[in-house]
Amino acid sequence: MINTRHRIEFDPDRCVGCQLCYKSCFVDVIRWDAESRRPVFKYVSDCEHCFYCEALCKQNAIHVIPAYASEHLLQSFDPYR
Ligand code: SF4
Ligand code: SF4
Repeated sequence: MINTRHRIEFDPDRCVGCQLCYKSCFVDVIRWDAESRRPVFKYVSDCEHCFYCEALCKQNAIHVIPAYASEHLLQSFDPYR
C-alpha cells in the first residue's frame, strides 16, 4: 500500500503483469518494472482519480482511494473557481 494524501492499494499477488494499468495512466503515476513485471506507483499525489487503472484491472489488484477532503480534490471539484 502506498500512502500519500491519496492512496492507491496494490496487491502484487493478484497481479498477472498485463500492463493495462500502466498503459492507462496518462499522468505517469503508474510506471513499469520490467524485472518484476509489476506496476510501480510514483508521485501518487499527482493521480487524477480517473479510475482507469482500477476499472481495467481484471484481477482486482488496484484500488484507488481518493482523499476527498484534500485541497487538490476540493479545487478540482469546485465549480465556482
Ligand atoms: S492491470 Fe492489474 S493485473 Fe494488469 S498489470 Fe495492472 S495490476 Fe497487474
Ligand atoms: S486513477 Fe487514473 S491517474 Fe490515478 S493512477 Fe489510476 S490511471 Fe493513473
